[in-house]
Amino acid sequence: MSIRMSLPLVVNEPGAGHAPVVPFLRLSALWIQITGTWCNLECTHCINASGPDDPWLKPIAPEVAREAMREADALGVKEIYFTGGEPFLHGEIMGLLADALAVAPTTVLTNGTLIDEAMADRLAALARSAAYSLEIRVSLDDTDPAKNDRIRGAGAFDKAVRAIQLLHERGLLPIVTATEISSHEHAGRRGIYERFREFLAGLGIEKPRVKVMPVFALGRSSRGGGRRLTEDDLEGFDRGTLQCSDSRVVADGGVYACPILAGLPGAKLSDGGLEASFRDTPLYHPSCVTCHETGMTCKNG
Ligand code: SF4
Repeated sequence: MSIRMSLPLVVNEPGAGHAPVVPFLRLSALWIQITGTWCNLECTHCINASGPDDPWLKPIAPEVAREAMREADALGVKEIYFTGGEPFLHGEIMGLLADALAVAPTTVLTNGTLIDEAMADRLAALARSAAYSLEIRVSLDDTDPAKNDRIRGAGAFDKAVRAIQLLHERGLLPIVTATEISSHEHAGRRGIYERFREFLAGLGIEKPRVKVMPVFALGRSSRGGGRRLTEDDLEGFDRGTLQCSDSRVVADGGVYACPILAGLPGAKLSDGGLEASFRDTPLYHPSCVTCHETGMTCKNG
């Protein structure tokens, strides 16, 4: 794998200070940020400011990912997710997916642009032979090609839609992930959901699957500053509904609380060991307000 490294992107990182915390309850989901912030696209809203040239968060070595999966297996993990950056840029992604599928149901979050016929064939063969289910989540931001590509880059729409069709033709039912950044956001989450379902049905996909995500004010969408959660905000709120109570992310430099904050020093919970990260998570970041208000999870469900 050959990538150029340069100075890390300066991320606006408020201090954890005396933030309220979420206790760790169980390990439901292991996330592996396999390519760090290395991506072939450079979307305008990307929460970790991924891009092609200078990943401020490096890809992780395959052995780090394998060790995390071994530890997660022993700790009873229920799901594994691969994310980045773009996971299909990683030279060993197929072998790592095979390893993950021996442990738990596994999902890849992708922009879909690197899934051609040969890759779709390999993914379908992997899914057929695996002990657990393989899910592919393909990101799109609008059902209008021009509007989508203004956010995700020229040509991204056609390649992602092609990937969705190739996977569907092979019996994999991709989950299309959309954010509320699209021009239809005023229609609300439900409106975006219906619009994407209709679009996918129009492609001949009988059982369209759509996940709508809020936009977080970090990475390329950072507006600087922002409100933080307080103990008063959380009074009577079940903190166990936040994904940081049952998920952990292995990324460059250690284990982090959630996929949204992976790589940020304030969200780092251990230098490497998964079990060592099973402790309180500080809700220190303005993005925690979005989780609290929307009830969102990065997981499939
Ligand atoms: S961003 Fe959300 S999931 Fe991550 S630590 Fe904050 S509340 Fe938890």
